Amino acid sequence: MNCYLIMGAPGAGKGTQASLIKNNYKIAHISTGDMFREAISSRTPVGLEAKKYIDKGNLAPDEITVYLVKERIQNDDCKNGFILDGFPRNLNQAKALDKLLKEEKIELKSVINIETDDKILIDRIVGRRTCPNCNEAYHIETKKPLKDGICDKCGSRLIQRADDNEEVVKSRLDVYHEQTAPLLKYYSKKGLVVNVDGMQDIDDVFNDIKKTWRK
Ligand code: ADP
Ligand code: ADP
Ligand code: ZN
Repeated sequence: MNCYLIMGAPGAGKGTQASLIKNNYKIAHISTGDMFREAISSRTPVGLEAKKYIDKGNLAPDEITVYLVKERIQNDDCKNGFILDGFPRNLNQAKALDKLLKEEKIELKSVINIETDDKILIDRIVGRRTCPNCNEAYHIETKKPLKDGICDKCGSRLIQRADDNEEVVKSRLDVYHEQTAPLLKYYSKKGLVVNVDGMQDIDDVFNDIKKTWRK
């Protein structure tokens, strides 16, 4: 079984590309952010605990996050492989993932790193609209839905995420630079990082991903 990671700053386009990858390569898309948002909306204990951190733009505790991923990859839809979006986000999580993959005999194939300038991220995040049902991301300028405010894929009404405001974004960016970006070095040493230019149009980013895809 194969595992892929997609990394990048908040708003870099991880979820957008992971959704295209899922459709194209028929592998599962696992987003820890989506899982937390689902837990929050169904008011589970995990959701209530994680919400305190997410609202401030901080990372949820590692134990909860690793547990969620561990359970999730047991799902049948992961049998053809899966891509992790938003996990790991710090060194402790990366080491927990190594252990998990080793135990389950899963191979980490590549770490797709979407490169962006911080300058563009605020507009991407503040303009993002999200489907609360299927998690597809839209943008008020760069990726409008066919019907205003409605998800193309499932017809649900789009929302703006509570943490997608300028203030919280700043802490999310700080957390990214301090804790998550250093993981690129960790994975580079293992020869796993594939960089793609995330400042191109969505389709062009995806074409670059396809060109460098490791089977
Ligand atoms: P992430 O999962 O990394 O936070 P998303 O995939 O949700 O990022 O994308 C953030 C926002 O930017 C969304 O509104 C999305 O529609 C938009 N977006 C994603 N990729 C691009 C791109 N290459 N060019 C322009 N806008 C994009
Ligand atoms: P982004 O679009 O900023 O990349 P995500 O949807 O991946 O956002 O994550 C939203 C929030 O959920 C994060 O700011 C963080 O609070 C929490 N979160 C998501 N994934 C993790 C993780 N692997 N570890 C800890 N917290 C996480
Ligand atoms: Zn939808």
